[in-house]
Amino acid sequence: MRILRSCAVLLLGAAPVVAQAPRPRALNWDSIAAEAVRNLSAYLAINTTNPPGNELAAARFLQQLLARDGIEAQILDTAELGAGRANLYARLRSNGAKKAIALVNHLDVVPVTPQFWSVDPFSGAVRDGYVWGRGALDMKGEGLVQLMALVALKRSGVPLDRDIVFIGNADEELGGTGAEVFVRRHADLLRDVEFLMTEGGDNLVDDGRLAYYGVGVAEKRTFWQRVTVHGTPSHGSRPTKLNPVPHLVDALSRLAHYETPLHVTPGVAKYFRDIAPQYAHAGQERAWLADIATALTDSAARAWITDNVYWNAILRNTISLTVLSASNKTNVIPAEATAEVDIRLLPDQDTAAVRAELVRVVGDTAVHWHTIYPPKAPLESPIDTDLFRAIERAARERDPGAQVTTPMLTGATDRPTYRALGIVTYGFDPFKTDKADAQRGVHGNDERVSVANVGFGVRFLYDVLRYAQ
Ligand SMILES: [Zn+2]
Repeated sequence: MRILRSCAVLLLGAAPVVAQAPRPRALNWDSIAAEAVRNLSAYLAINTTNPPGNELAAARFLQQLLARDGIEAQILDTAELGAGRANLYARLRSNGAKKAIALVNHLDVVPVTPQFWSVDPFSGAVRDGYVWGRGALDMKGEGLVQLMALVALKRSGVPLDRDIVFIGNADEELGGTGAEVFVRRHADLLRDVEFLMTEGGDNLVDDGRLAYYGVGVAEKRTFWQRVTVHGTPSHGSRPTKLNPVPHLVDALSRLAHYETPLHVTPGVAKYFRDIAPQYAHAGQERAWLADIATALTDSAARAWITDNVYWNAILRNTISLTVLSASNKTNVIPAEATAEVDIRLLPDQDTAAVRAELVRVVGDTAVHWHTIYPPKAPLESPIDTDLFRAIERAARERDPGAQVTTPMLTGATDRPTYRALGIVTYGFDPFKTDKADAQRGVHGNDERVSVANVGFGVRFLYDVLRYAQ
């Protein structure tokens, strides 16, 4: 801290001492963007296909990058996660006036089928204006952007009220053990964390046009069920009432025809309100979306809205019948028939009440229910926060008038693992990736991120973190 008045003046009591924070240094964003592209290219060349993961090499690489700017990072959990695996943790210190913000990414990537790629997926190729490689979008690209935003904050000397925590996790793509071990063993490192940002955001760009900035505030919970009916095995040539298969088929038929209640959560109501103006050509539909709860009481509106598979899935608990098994021989009545049902709950649902509802719908005490995995903690983060407002501000500076909205994720991420500690978590996408690129590349082939997006992302996240102080 610099004191403007000299000590002599202070001693004379002529004027008050005025303390002023150091002035932030101007950053050369072109050179930071070029550095980010170089670093991302080198990062993508480290093969962390999971299995086996090999995240330790990625953690060491990021640790070295942070060390160049004097930020010390710790490699953690190597014994717990197994050979070649690790989590990474670093922290940029503030004056501690407010609680911390954590930037979380995963170090592993999903496997590739190299023959379908135009480049070697682990070469880190930079060409035609893109950085190519497995992980460019999911999510080494975002992880590297988080790291560079942290480094940029350090270099700029911007005064910080909130520590910025950086966490790289192993094994997000397979077992989620990296985040689980981290939360279990290092809850102390997260104690002062108020906000967390990771994947699960979606800035929708369709044919070069930005539809919205999407911040992930909520995700559905998996509540997978195994449904079993027991019977008495016998020969298929003599039908009996003790065949479990017809029992199960009846039960599944009732489930398949059951329409779960429609229910509007606050984030979903906001999402529909935000996208309504895009239906400017269709006055009636725009009015429906602007007030979704009212629209759902109208049969024509309800039919139009639930016909969209994504909208339908964010407005209700869903039931998909998926796995079936009974006899493995045509002439054998089996001892048991089972089905697995993929049930996804809205975040505010009570699992015991849902289970009771399913039992009532099926209405057969011979049907046994078993929850396949314990459901994760519910994830629905508040919107009225400093960090959400910071994202809105930074987004609108870039795209004046842009919507910053809250699409619910129908799939599952590591976020509930952190949310269980009481941390407000957001899915944040630092890029404006065209829908077609994301569709093809994420878990697919020719995954790539544009060079322009890498520079955009670092500065976007830097501003978000600055505005959230
Ligand atoms: Zn991912």
